[in-house]
Amino acid sequence: MNKPSSGSPAKPELKPDTTLATAGRNPFAHHGYVNPPVYRAATITYPTVEDYLAQRGPYAYGRVHTPTSEALEQAIQALEGPACAGVALLPSGLAAIATALLAVLKTGDRLLVSDSCYGPAREFCDTVLARWGVTTTYYDPLIGAGIGALMQPNTRAIYTEAPGSLTFEMQDIPAIAAAAHARGALVLMDNTWAGPLNFRALDRGVDLSIQSGSKYVGGHCDLMLGTISANVAAYARLRETVLATGQCAGPDDMNLALRGLRTLGVRLARHFQSGLQVARWLAARPEVLRVLHPALPGDPGHAIWQRDFSGGCGLFGVVFEPAPEKAVHAFLDALTLFGIGASWGGYESLAIPYDATAVRTATRWSPGGPCIRLHVGLEDTADLIGDLERGFAALAAAR
Ligand SMILES: *Cc1c(COP(=O)(O)O)cnc(C)c1O
Repeated sequence: MNKPSSGSPAKPELKPDTTLATAGRNPFAHHGYVNPPVYRAATITYPTVEDYLAQRGPYAYGRVHTPTSEALEQAIQALEGPACAGVALLPSGLAAIATALLAVLKTGDRLLVSDSCYGPAREFCDTVLARWGVTTTYYDPLIGAGIGALMQPNTRAIYTEAPGSLTFEMQDIPAIAAAAHARGALVLMDNTWAGPLNFRALDRGVDLSIQSGSKYVGGHCDLMLGTISANVAAYARLRETVLATGQCAGPDDMNLALRGLRTLGVRLARHFQSGLQVARWLAARPEVLRVLHPALPGDPGHAIWQRDFSGGCGLFGVVFEPAPEKAVHAFLDALTLFGIGASWGGYESLAIPYDATAVRTATRWSPGGPCIRLHVGLEDTADLIGDLERGFAALAAAR
């Protein structure tokens, strides 16, 4: 992890696509080669005892940082903008969630978590955090500024995710952040769906912004990585926690993530465009009750999305008109271009069935029919729509 810094205020900020192509690169530190090499490193050696005792040199130990981790941290920090004081790289998105929570909480604290959060985040709160004496209260994701009424003197942190996993409910992040800060709490956000390209969370009051780098940053379903971007208020505690718990990401995963970042802008824009095209087509189908996608004008979260986000990605939910489970499974099994599998953010399309009603504890979520989640990849949308037509034919046949 790098020493804290407040971005590079001296230089004019570049546009995101330019940042993606330039950040974290220094060819002339590597014989002119365009990309930094992959440093696989544990031990650092020193020419003399004196150098060792003084820990002379830019690097200390492979776990702490290498030119590879530094390049990726710098690139992500540049994308987050001047509000970002530093970035931590973790071995997975879930590790990033757990580490960010550990960084801000202690025994006796209260934590508020959105009822629509990523399932394994809830699991971490209900098991490990509970064991360490942190009380988690789940709240209505649509609560907005009303979150203030749930806060107690020992409410230390508010955990958010927008749009929420599976239900795609939007959250009013600036309103929640204002209420949190007025009462001395920090705000964490899982920003995997939009990422800093489409929602600069730290500019909207988030103190610790988390991404699963395994999704679009990697973009090819071949790595595990998590990132935490912190503002000045949160960075010192984040750095202390990451270093004390010995967290680091693998050199090859970091290198693949750095490669993924170079094309993130064009990939994400295409995923978003294609996803919207497929979502609109689905919304017009008689078998579909509604599509859960905040960028669609009819979506309950659309106004917030339009106000706060500059884009999105290829992930959304579809609620079918009531149909037997076997018909929904026949729909999914008939798809040939959509793989059946969780995770997302790679170049390929995916589909899964889900039930997001049982996990809710603060609010009821009643979709009105069976749900599937689609990830629209980089395939041609005409082919994807053809595939979904085959699915609907199978659904009709299985009723
Ligand atoms: C996948 C995912 C994570 C976890 O990331 P991993 O890298 O798989 O550990 C966290 N949040 C969201 C919203 C996700 O979809």
